[in-house]
Amino acid sequence: MSTRNRYAFFRGEIVPIEKANVSIMTHALHYGTGCFAGLRAYWNEEEKQLFVFRIVDHFRRFINSTRLLLMDTANRYTVEQLVGSTLDLLRRERYLEDAYIRPLAFKSSLEIGVRLHDLDDEVAMFAIPFGRYLQNEEAARVTISSWRRVDDNAIPARGKITGSYANSALIKTDAHMKGFDEAIVLNQDGHVSEGSAENLFIIRDGVAYTPSVHENVLEGINRRTHIQLLRDELGIETVERPIDRTEVLLADEVFFCGTGVQIVSVAEIDSYTIGSGRMGPVVGRLRELFFDIVRGKVRKYREWCTPVYLTD
Ligand code: PMP
Repeated sequence: MSTRNRYAFFRGEIVPIEKANVSIMTHALHYGTGCFAGLRAYWNEEEKQLFVFRIVDHFRRFINSTRLLLMDTANRYTVEQLVGSTLDLLRRERYLEDAYIRPLAFKSSLEIGVRLHDLDDEVAMFAIPFGRYLQNEEAARVTISSWRRVDDNAIPARGKITGSYANSALIKTDAHMKGFDEAIVLNQDGHVSEGSAENLFIIRDGVAYTPSVHENVLEGINRRTHIQLLRDELGIETVERPIDRTEVLLADEVFFCGTGVQIVSVAEIDSYTIGSGRMGPVVGRLRELFFDIVRGKVRKYREWCTPVYLTD
């Protein structure tokens, strides 16, 4: 991962990245009491413009995550201010290429003691140049993890809580060490939830299915995007309901979606080949549409793309 970034948003202002540091006593470092967002900005070469994808939706969810952790962030920052700081940061970096933006809110008190109450919190953010998250976007090899997804009554998956990413890290590394690109994770009840850091869709007999938001999944912005694109552009309805692992194995097409992975076609799951073993027509069409939309090339969806640079 590149470290070509020079600035960070830290304690309310944009500072050189070397100045954005915290103490080893920071509460969030010990207890996972932070939450984050992950956004992408896409470079459009024809327009010489950088577009941030669905920036307001990302910061709305970020604020919700801070609320789950009883943080004071929402009283100190509005979504509009966070959007403004993100654009300022990207302008300072002057990126003319695809980038990934990482806002983070964390309990910053220098204290020992597991709790959420009576602690300070801070917001920080940086942005780095970013390409593919999974190299194998067109034909990923996936395993069904033996780890289970954290439950809403343990650590809510609907908040992007740093502590819960220890669950994702166990899942991802286990899959990686076994030679797979990613993993599908099951809930405690054995139904499918999502990937280590992405939502999951299957296409079966012309219908799309994805686990509902009550299945311990992150309420993904790309998940929402693809439900809309499947319906409005491909005429395919998405049914949100519990999904059995064998439904995934027998699906015609399977894909992951998320800001990091973008949209990834799954070719194999453990010893099973999915569909023909090659990217299917629905995922192929969605990928084309998606990459045009995020670069601001589709007028109808241009409102999802916030330009970074001012033009005359
Ligand atoms: N699930 C998890 C666990 C994730 O970390 C992510 C990445 N943010 C997603 C799903 C996809 O969410 P989004 O489309 O909002 O990036």
